[in-house]
Amino acid sequence: MSAAAVIDSLEFARAGDELRGTLSVASLKRLDDVLFDTQGRLDYELYGRRDARNRPQLEVRVSGPLHLQCQRCLGLLDYAVDIEATLLVVPRGAPLGDEIDDPEGPDVIEGDPELEVAALIEDEVLLSLPLAPRHPEGFCASRLPQIQPAEGSKVFAELAALKRPRDPR
Ligand SMILES: [Zn+2]
Repeated sequence: MSAAAVIDSLEFARAGDELRGTLSVASLKRLDDVLFDTQGRLDYELYGRRDARNRPQLEVRVSGPLHLQCQRCLGLLDYAVDIEATLLVVPRGAPLGDEIDDPEGPDVIEGDPELEVAALIEDEVLLSLPLAPRHPEGFCASRLPQIQPAEGSKVFAELAALKRPRDPR
């Protein structure tokens, strides 16, 4: 499947179409800010469906590895994308009404006759990522920024003072 796939999202959902493909992480430019590097590829599947009320939906599945950047040590953080999202597709310009107010309901997107699949996948990946990805406590690489000795010793002296147990009363 071409990475540059374009679908008519409403028609796709109504017709129960299916699409599978692979996107290179490097092609998802909006992920750049959170990535350590752009290695890897994400597999996606897209299914047209109708819900119990016969409303057209898109089911989106995305999986694959990402190399995120740890917000604490700036090192590589392995992250597995694993998304299963359902999107209700409403005709463009249609009143959204109760669909969008239902907190239990699926996310809503407007039908787009030329929806770029890669952009949709990128949106879903961005939404699924942790706000501040970090290694678990104690698992960061010990690559702290180099501190100049004079400044460093002062900082560490202050830290040591903070950590010193209080004198017993
Ligand atoms: Zn870390």
